[in-house]
Amino acid sequence: MTDIPDSHPRKASLMSRQKMVEASKRGLLAESAMIAHGRGEAFDYLLGEKTSDSASLAIREAAALLLVAESPVISMNGNSTVLAGSEAIKIASILGCPVEVNIYYRTSDRMEALIGELESLRDRLGSESLHKARQSIMDVEILGAVADGRILGLQGPRSLCSSQGIEQADVILVPLEDGDRCKALTSLGKQVIAIDLNPLSRTSKSATVTIVDDVKRAMSRLADELLENPKTTDWNNEAVLRDALDIMSSSSLRIA
Ligand code: ATP
Repeated sequence: MTDIPDSHPRKASLMSRQKMVEASKRGLLAESAMIAHGRGEAFDYLLGEKTSDSASLAIREAAALLLVAESPVISMNGNSTVLAGSEAIKIASILGCPVEVNIYYRTSDRMEALIGELESLRDRLGSESLHKARQSIMDVEILGAVADGRILGLQGPRSLCSSQGIEQADVILVPLEDGDRCKALTSLGKQVIAIDLNPLSRTSKSATVTIVDDVKRAMSRLADELLENPKTTDWNNEAVLRDALDIMSSSSLRIA
């Protein structure tokens, strides 16, 4: 990869872009993945490419919900695996929960590639960790290969999931979810924590807690926040969506 100097103001964004390009060549991503990423980049630019105060509150609420969940799961697609796969493994190791690969355009090649990617990220993270953390990292189960569960309310391949993961989960962390699936999951009474840079997406509007932030930044902070043992609050999700829109609409003045 071309060296980007640390002083470059958009280094993190350029590095993520490069990761996406490389992952696409390796067959980890759907054809539309770059379009989704580009849409996210545009919103992130307007947010100043940093975690806002309201997103920080959403991250804390998400941590609190995950800590009290009976059966949490982290649902990963191609983009989130490429951009924040290690962070997902870390969160799962703290919670002792599985990670499930669940993708919109399901093909056996891509499922296999993404499960393999998460397994190798897990093995690398485990080998770099101290003894106590190592075991909980190596114990993280990567689900998705067996699609023996269903998301009721969805049709076709998009309804497939693992009976050990999403089907029986009460709280689901879904970075970059699609709106229909998010709605179907909440209709089933599950609590959905979405990470989505677009505060106007159907996912953002229908999730229980929406973190309007970049997936890597948000998941990295979420892992730290879990260790602080936060408590749930009387959460107002619309307020964080409004706050994100306010930041975005005032950003043009800041840039000028
Ligand atoms: P919805 O179905 O919820 O209305 P959509 O159709 O607008 O959403 P999709 O194409 O399903 O969106 O998924 C892309 C979403 O992921 C966009 O909302 C985009 O802002 C968001 N996104 C892309 N990259 C990132 C990222 N790195 N971090 C967080 N969100 C991202």
